[in-house]
Amino acid sequence: MSEAEDPIMLSALQHWSYCPRQCALIHLEQAFDENVHTMRGNAAHARVDEPGFESFEDVRSERALPVWSDRLGLVGKCDVVEFHSDGHLYPVEYKHGRKKLQVHDDLQLAAQAMCLEEMFGRPVTQGAIYHHTSRRRREVAITPELRQQVEETVAAIRAMLASGKLPPPVNDARCKECSLIDICQPQAIAPSSAHELIAQHLFEPED
Ligand code: SF4
Repeated sequence: MSEAEDPIMLSALQHWSYCPRQCALIHLEQAFDENVHTMRGNAAHARVDEPGFESFEDVRSERALPVWSDRLGLVGKCDVVEFHSDGHLYPVEYKHGRKKLQVHDDLQLAAQAMCLEEMFGRPVTQGAIYHHTSRRRREVAITPELRQQVEETVAAIRAMLASGKLPPPVNDARCKECSLIDICQPQAIAPSSAHELIAQHLFEPED
């Protein structure tokens, strides 16, 4: 199997959705750096990173469950998967509640759902994002549109890995919160002012 055919990490979908260059720096060049956002994220994940399970009433919750899809060429793990006694599965992804568009989280959750469907042969139609800061769950429907986005994102990431090339920097509001800003040097390419205005609008804080 060539590198281009190696399984793609589930986290790569979220990275690509946020910024294709960030995805390439992490998954092509293995660059990684800590900032306050990644450290908060790591703290929020600390418990769900330990494999184990809990049972409550008719639900068994597995933590840090390895998942994969041979069809899509994906591999990773789910923070929590609830196995309900009526047979349905429900993935829950833990986030530390930073300001960011929900679409990035939803894409990763949909990819987890598609892995679980392939592994267990059962439809997974819903999941949730658990926000550590607010201690609230946001339920997410695994829609046909999200599934299509997963397929397209996997294809785009695979093409990037096969090319071995870094996408250009987005050089907009996203960069301020990116842990790779020093490695990336996005300001080396001047932004188009229109592009920056659009991005600043799109990436306004949710809360
Ligand atoms: S600094 Fe900006 S362009 Fe570079 S990887 Fe991060 S978000 Fe992308």
